[in-house]
Amino acid sequence: MAIPGYGRTAEIDLTDKKISIRDVDEYLAYEFIGGRGWTAYFVFKEIDKIVDALHPSNVLIVAAGPLAGTYFSSGGKTEFGALSPQTGIYGDSNVGGYLGYRLRRSGIDCLIIRGRSPTPSYIYVEDGRVEVFEAPELWGLNSSEVDRKLREKHDGECSIASIGLAGEKQVSFACINVDWNLRKYRHGQAGRTGMGAVMGSKNLKAIVVKGSGEVKVADPERLRDVAKRFQKQVLESPTYDIWRRQGTMLTVEWANNAEALPVYNFQKTRYEYADKIDGYALEKVKLYSRPCSNCIVPCEHVVPFNIRGEKGEIGVEYETTGMIGSNTGLKSLEEIAYANYLCDNYGLDTITMGSVIAFVMECFQKGILTEEDVGFNVEWGDINAISKLIELTAKREGFGELTALGVKKLSERIGRGSERFAMHVKGLEISAYDHRAAPAMALSYATCDIGAHHNRSWAITYDLQVGRYSYGEDKVDRVIYLQHIRPLFDMLGVCRLYWVELGVDPNLYAEAYSAITGKEVTLNDLLRRSEKVWNLTRVMAILRKKISMEDDMLPPRDFEDPVPEGSTKGVKLSKERFIEMLKMYYRKRGWDDQGRPTKEKLIELGLEEAARKLYG
Ligand code: SF4
Repeated sequence: MAIPGYGRTAEIDLTDKKISIRDVDEYLAYEFIGGRGWTAYFVFKEIDKIVDALHPSNVLIVAAGPLAGTYFSSGGKTEFGALSPQTGIYGDSNVGGYLGYRLRRSGIDCLIIRGRSPTPSYIYVEDGRVEVFEAPELWGLNSSEVDRKLREKHDGECSIASIGLAGEKQVSFACINVDWNLRKYRHGQAGRTGMGAVMGSKNLKAIVVKGSGEVKVADPERLRDVAKRFQKQVLESPTYDIWRRQGTMLTVEWANNAEALPVYNFQKTRYEYADKIDGYALEKVKLYSRPCSNCIVPCEHVVPFNIRGEKGEIGVEYETTGMIGSNTGLKSLEEIAYANYLCDNYGLDTITMGSVIAFVMECFQKGILTEEDVGFNVEWGDINAISKLIELTAKREGFGELTALGVKKLSERIGRGSERFAMHVKGLEISAYDHRAAPAMALSYATCDIGAHHNRSWAITYDLQVGRYSYGEDKVDRVIYLQHIRPLFDMLGVCRLYWVELGVDPNLYAEAYSAITGKEVTLNDLLRRSEKVWNLTRVMAILRKKISMEDDMLPPRDFEDPVPEGSTKGVKLSKERFIEMLKMYYRKRGWDDQGRPTKEKLIELGLEEAARKLYG
C-alpha cells in the first residue's frame, strides 16, 4: 500500500517494453525524500553495471518530489538523473514547468527508464497507467514541433518532456525541453550534464504525462495552514515586486555591479553593454510572464525576436544571458533571445553552448583557431557566427563534431595552450559568475558534485557580504551548508528561489513535508538526508572516475589571469590558499585528504552499501 504523501515508481525497459509499477517504500521515501535523492539512489544501484553513459545499460531517472502536485505553492520541479555523457560521473538536472505536478497527480512519482527502444518511441503516462508508443515520425524533429504534435494528439492538457536534434545526435550537452507550447506555464529545460543525450541514446524522443488525480495528503488541514503562512511570507517579501517584474534577469545588473559577470570568456567581469541586456531592458520589451505549476511568482519573462528571417518569442533568464550574451559579446536582448531559442529548439544546454562559443571566440582572438579550421570567421558578438556554431553543434556537422564534445574535450583536441582558458571543472562548464574575487564561489564550483554548477551553492553573495578576498573557515562552512540546503529543494520537488530570493523561512518546508507525509521531521533531519545524497554522489564519482583533489580544481585562468579592470583589478585566486580551503572542506565533510568519504562517515550516514563498494 502506498504511504501517505507518496505515489508509485514505474520501471520501464524500452528494449522489450516491459513495465512494472510498485509503491514507493518507506526506505526510499524517508531516507531519500524524492527528486534528486531518488535520481542519485537509483543511479547508484546500477552504477557497477553501466558500461558507459550512452550505452543501453545506463539508467535514466525522472523524479518528482513529495511537495510537488500539492497546494503548497512553491512551484513544481522535476529531476532528471543518469550517468552523464559529458562528465562520465553521476549527472542530474532540474526543471520547472508542469511535469512534476502532472506526474504526482498521475500517481507516478518516479520513472526508472532502462534499455534502448528498437524504434524511436515516447513514454505515455496517464493516471497510473504507463505505456511506450512507437513514433518514428517524430525522429528528426526539433523540440517545439515534437511538443506541438504530441499535444495535438493528446488533447493539450498534458506535460511533455522532449529532445531535439542534439539529443538524437547524442551531443554530450544535449538538454531536455519541458512544456514548449503551454502558453500559461513556464517552458523549462533540464539543461545540464547531457540528460538529453541519454534520452537520445535510448531512442526516447519524449515523455508525455497526464494526471488528473489528487495527491493524498496525511494532514490536509495542517498543510493548508503551512501553505497560508508560506504565501503570506512570499507576498510580504520586500523583493516580491522586483522578482515578479524581472525574475532572474535582475542578476545581470547585480553581477555587473559586483564585477562578477562573465564577459568575453571570463576575461573581464564588467560589460560595457550590460544595460542593453539587463532586467530593465527586459521590462521594456517583454510580452508576458508565466510561472511553473503552482507558483505565485511568475519569473519567466517572454520576449520577441525577429532575426535572420526567423520570428518568434522565448523566455529569457540570467544564466543564458550571461553565458550566451555577455560572455560571447552579444549586445541586445533580441539576439540573446534568438540564440536561446536556437539552443532550446535543437535541445542544447545554453550554459555549455555559451561557454563553448566564447572559448572558440577567444581561440580566434589569440590566433589559435582561424577561418580555415572552423569554416567561417568567429568574432565576438557576431550573431551569424554564433547561430552557425549552434546549428553545426546540434547536427554534429563539420567543426560541430568538435564543439559537440564540450569545452574540456574541445580544448584537449585543439591544444596549443587553449586548455588554460577552457572554463570547466570535471568537464562541466562553469556557469555565469566570475569568481576570481570570490573564494567561496570558487570553492562551490570546484567541489560541486556534478561539475561546476552554481545551483548547488550560490555562495557569491556570501563573499560579497563578508569580504571577497578572504579564504576563511566561515566560507568553507557556508559552502557546505549551501550544498545541503539548496539541493534539498530539488529533493522536495520545489523551487529554491522562494528561499533564495524572497527569503521565506526554510523551516516551513519541513512542516509542509510533515503535513503531507505524516512523518514528523525538522529542517535539520532533511538537511541530513541531503548530506547523505551529497556523499552518495561523491562515492559514485570516485567509483566511476577515481575523482580526487586534482579533479576538484579550477581552470588555470582563475589562478593566473588577474581581473583586468575595475575595483577588483589585479585580483586572481591564490592557488595555495585555495588548496588550504579545499583541504579544510574535506576535513569538515569527514573525507580523507584526497576527498574520499571515509568508511566511518559513510556508515554514520547510513550508506553501508556505498562503504562496501568503496572499501570492500
Ligand atoms: Fe518557476 Fe520562477 Fe516560480 Fe521558481 S519562481 S517556480 S522558477 S516560475
